[in-house]
Amino acid sequence: MGRVRQRDTLPELAIQSVVRNLGYSLAANVKTLPGSPDLVDESRKLAILVHGCFWHRHKRCKAATSPTHNARFWKQKFLENERRDRLNLARLRRRGFGILTVWECQVKNPTKRARLIRRIARFLGGA
Ligand SMILES: [Zn+2]
Repeated sequence: MGRVRQRDTLPELAIQSVVRNLGYSLAANVKTLPGSPDLVDESRKLAILVHGCFWHRHKRCKAATSPTHNARFWKQKFLENERRDRLNLARLRRRGFGILTVWECQVKNPTKRARLIRRIARFLGGA
């Protein structure tokens, strides 16, 4: 099964611009790394993953709904997605990457946004 979501969704573009505004230049959608991380600094081994809450099952998030129609199908699909995410995270860590996961709801929520930008700044600043 391929990737479930399309390239360069709005949350990803928003994070790309946050990163640019912080003065960093990162590679986008790096296909040579496990899971094609959304933003990567290969020399410093830093990867930012921008996850959609629904597909990647953000815990305790109201956007991570479970469709009742075809419930079995969805349950299976979500299990596969979670499994793949875990594998990709482990593979990235094994290659020595520091990883920051950003959730779609954090990008969209204006009250969470300032905190998110500080988190990204700390992460890229090596703190
Ligand atoms: Zn969420």
